[in-house]
This record gives sequence, C-alpha cells and structure tokens, in this order.
Amino acid sequence: MKTYTNTVNGRAEGAARTFESKNPATGETIGLVPHSSAEQVAAAVAAAKAAQPGWAAKPDAERKALVMQVAEAIKANAPYLAEWVTREQGKPLGGVGPDQVPGARFELWGCEVWSQVTASLDLPSEVVFEDETRRDEMHRKPLGVIAAIAPWNWPLLIAIWQIIPSIRAGNCVVIKPSEYTSIGTLEMVRIIAELLPPGVLNSVSGPGEVGAWLVENPAIDKVMFTGSGPTGARIAAAAARNLTPTTLELGGNDAAIVMPDADPKAMAMGLFWGAFLNMGQTCACAKRLYVHESLHDAVVAELKGLAEAMPMGNGMDEGVVMGPIQNRMQFDKVVGLVEAAKAGGATIVCGGQAPAGPGNFYPLTLVTDIADGNPLVDEEQFGPVLPIIKYRDVEDAIASANRLDVGLGASVWSTNLDAAKAVATRIQAGTVWINQHGTIHPMVPFGGAKGSGWGLEFGIDGLKAVTQPQVISLKK
Ligand code: NAD
Repeated sequence: MKTYTNTVNGRAEGAARTFESKNPATGETIGLVPHSSAEQVAAAVAAAKAAQPGWAAKPDAERKALVMQVAEAIKANAPYLAEWVTREQGKPLGGVGPDQVPGARFELWGCEVWSQVTASLDLPSEVVFEDETRRDEMHRKPLGVIAAIAPWNWPLLIAIWQIIPSIRAGNCVVIKPSEYTSIGTLEMVRIIAELLPPGVLNSVSGPGEVGAWLVENPAIDKVMFTGSGPTGARIAAAAARNLTPTTLELGGNDAAIVMPDADPKAMAMGLFWGAFLNMGQTCACAKRLYVHESLHDAVVAELKGLAEAMPMGNGMDEGVVMGPIQNRMQFDKVVGLVEAAKAGGATIVCGGQAPAGPGNFYPLTLVTDIADGNPLVDEEQFGPVLPIIKYRDVEDAIASANRLDVGLGASVWSTNLDAAKAVATRIQAGTVWINQHGTIHPMVPFGGAKGSGWGLEFGIDGLKAVTQPQVISLKK
C-alpha cells in the first residue's frame, strides 16, 4: 500500500505514524497518510515563516503569473486529481463544466476557475480621504503565515479557496486537509508547490489534534477554517489565546421557501441540485424546504421524479450521478435523523432505507408530514435527505427560516422577483438566492451569518480577508 507524503519547504515528507484512507463506495483502503507530529507541524510553520518575506517581496506581476501557472497545472492534472476525489470523497467523476453533473471533474474545474479568477484580482492602494491638509491612503499587505484547515465534502475546492487568495496576496500557507480525504489534497499541494518557491505552500496531515497544533502555533498570522460549528468554536478559542484572527466558514441549515406563485416544473431541477448536490454534503445545500400548501403536492411529485431517476453507485463507473455518503460517522447521523422522523410520524416519500452491501450508500430521501422542532428539520443533516414542510402564511415560513442559530444560505422560489426579493431581505443568512440555491461564484463574496461563522471568501472581499490593512497618512 502506497504511503503518500506531505510537502514541506519544497520537499516530500513522511511521518513515523500513518493512517488509512478508505474508499466510501467500497470500504477498501486506498492509501496511507502520514500522521504529522507536533514537531513536523512546527517545522512546516517555520518553513512558511522563513519563505514569506521573499514571497511578499516579489513583484506583484510575478506572483500573479505564478498563480496563473498554478491554474494551468490544476487543469493539466485534473484527470488524476478528479480520480482521487472520487475514490476518496465518493462524488462521481461526472462531466466537466457548469452544465454537467456536478461531480469530481466539476470540482477540479472549479479549482481551476477559482485560481484563475483570484489570480486576476488586484488590490491597489486607495485614497480614502483627501483635502487641502492631508491625504490618506489604504494599503493592503500580506498577513504572513496562513493556517488552512479543510473539511471532507469538497476537499480540493475548499483547499483552493483557502490557498489561492492567501498566496496571491503574498502570504505563505500551511494546510491540513480532513483526515477523511487527505490524499487528493496532499497530491494537489505537491503539484502546486512544485511551481512555487520552497516554503510558500506546505501541508501537514492527521486528525483534529494536528489542526490544533497548527492553530496554537504563535507564528500563525491567520486561521482559515471550514468545517463544523463545534470545531470552529474550539479553533476560535485557541486562536484567541494568541489574538490570531480567523475566518470561520461553518455549518448551516439552509431554508428554501417556495412561494405560492412558484412554478413547480420550472424550478424542480434547480431545487433538486440545490438540495442534493454532492449527496447533500455541501455546506450551502437546501436542508429544509418550506412549500406553500397550494403547491406542496406538485413540488413533492417533481422532486420525487428526479430523485428516483438518479443512478447511484461507485462514482468511478460511467453514468453514475450519485455516490455514497463520505464516512460512517455522517452515514450514522443521517440514518438516525431519518429514523427519528419516522418515529415522529413523518411520511417517507422515497428512500429512507439503506441498501445492503458494501459502501456508505443511502438513497435520496424525501420526508413530508414533518414540522419545525423535529431533529431532521432542526439539525444539519448534511446528507441526501430533505424534509418538506407545508406552510400557509409566508410570515410563518420567514419565521421558520430565521428560528435556528445558523444562517449560511437560504433561497426563495417565485415567479414574482420583487416579492421574492422582499422576502429574501428579511432572511437571516449570509446569502439568499432567488430561484437558485448554492450557486456560488468566484467574484461573489460568500460567508455565514449567526452560528455559520464570520468573514468572507471569494472576490475582492475574500482577498482583503488575507491582508493587513495599513493606512499611510500624509500631512500636506
Ligand atoms: P469538522 O469540523 O469535523 O472538521 C474540519 C477540519 O477540522 C478537519 O480537517 C479536522 O481534522 C479539523 N479539526 C478537528 N478538530 C480540530 C481542532 N480542535 N483544531 C483544529 N482543527 C481541527 O468538519 P467536517 O465534518 O470535516 O465538515 C463538515 C462540516 O463543515 C459541516 O458542518 C459543513 O456544513 C461545514 N462546511 C462549511 C462550509 C462553509 O463554507 N461554510 C463549507 C463546507 C463545509
């Protein structure tokens, strides 16, 4: 069994201990991953710290050109890396580009596009005030060393969201992928790091304790974390001890509201992928659907038709559209929530029973006759299950959307855009989509409200988030 390596200061690095990476479609071990030691984490941070002044001193155009080369390298290696995503994370290979089934090739395409777009952005100094007595300019400087900690659902794409703005702005990075999906990320880091000066991009790997060593290191200048709320709270507390700033992209429980004037047929496909992208294992998937009572049965029928038509299986096989749940912990959570819904008298419209056989497969599941307060509605299921709740008065749907302590995304579905917008502005979430859900874009800022975290990623705001603002104030 091959042991994959981290990249530290431009060199491949193993570890005294290793752990297994498993294919969630088959249960097979697919490779061994180094479990970095505390000393190795400290050495990776030291390498990044040493490389950072030289990286920041490079002319901006040179850094920009190198990040553009990174995008090209991702494109050139996309077939290899997409196979790792499928074998390790489970999403099917799928097609390429925005109109295809959004699988592993889509994830790699996203990595390429996000890298290109971020490379093209600039942060010139701005005159923020000027009169006859003074001139004040805002400059943006790199922060230093960024610790990036990633989850298992979109392992490569989320790593790219953390790495690329950081290095574009002149920072160096130490990244720790999720212990469930390490190899694809370690391989991508190896490929990217070959193009950059040693120490600019480094990886460490292992479970949560490795991430904790990284966050606690006083040489870290910012932590970029994407993952669950409880881990985010632990990271925020640890980072606070060194006054290290953080960006926290945490879990959500996105509400989608279907207004009485929506068109069930026209919106069905968008709503379906909004809920079931990556088997629902997406932070900003629709996780609770509120449908006006007049459209309830029609919407359920449309979604059922789509859910039952999607082939599920090993994502390496041609024609497969849905893969397994990534890990057993998540699988057990999904099963537990569906069983609790059944026990509470909910109706299972389709799915609701795991098939026999290997792999963490669970069918696409629609649940009706369910209400706020049921755990399947109130908790982030992060899997292929959608509770559908009937409402009569749109005020009640808005109150339902806002009643939880998370607020990542939400959506409103209507043929009346003004009415939809009026509802959207009243929802407590970082993004409210209208007639689409989860449709992120590299130029559009993305981040959570309430317990879904703080800080923004993507576009100019995302780039600013990995810089230190400095005002230069001149007396005239
Ligand atoms: P998780 O919090 O269990 O793990 C995320 C990462 O944190 C892993 O790399 C893990 O090893 C590391 N970690 C664990 N304990 C740590 C500690 N004490 N210190 C430092 N690092 C530590 O999350 P997960 O299960 O991998 O991901 C699923 C969650 O992520 C869901 O809640 C989902 O909604 C959320 N998510 C949010 C976004 C977003 O942009 N808001 C995107 C994707 C996923």
